[in-house]
Amino acid sequence: MQFFVKHLYLIAPILAIAAVVGGYFFLKSKIKPVPHVEIKHEEIVFDAEEYLRSLKAKNKPFNQQGVHLLLLKRTRQKEGVYLESLLPAMDSAGIEVVHCFHKVMGDDYVPVITSGNDYPYHAKNSKHYMNAALDFRIVNLPMNKRRELVEMAQLRLGYRFRVLWEKGEAEHLHVELLE
Ligand SMILES: [Zn+2]
Repeated sequence: MQFFVKHLYLIAPILAIAAVVGGYFFLKSKIKPVPHVEIKHEEIVFDAEEYLRSLKAKNKPFNQQGVHLLLLKRTRQKEGVYLESLLPAMDSAGIEVVHCFHKVMGDDYVPVITSGNDYPYHAKNSKHYMNAALDFRIVNLPMNKRRELVEMAQLRLGYRFRVLWEKGEAEHLHVELLE
């Protein structure tokens, strides 16, 4: 008892330490840990060899590039004609126009594309500069065939495209994609 009384002054600091430690554990138990969420990133692996194989594969379905190559194959292009950035919709339209040429002139006819995005003298806001227009040579066709071709192209391409029979010195068939 004498011992206890002698060290009574220690009670205050012991209680203080106990309060601090208790408080610490109390708060710790209240703080919820941030749940660990694992974010899975879908791994996209580009296999160059697989890609090259798919390019060489036969009987592959036509993709965008395939339609573009078909257009180049089914037409001749005037020197300097730039079609590399032609919009995919215009590739399809071009094929359709080639089909019209075949209907009018026979299946062996090879149409000539005289302009894509290349000629610097189109109107300022010409669709040619947006890779959304093509010009076809028609001056070598008899007049009645030109008319037949233009009408057929307008009919087949429908409302998404504008087909113009540009007359005058540089007569040609102009096809453009509408917005
Ligand atoms: Zn044009």
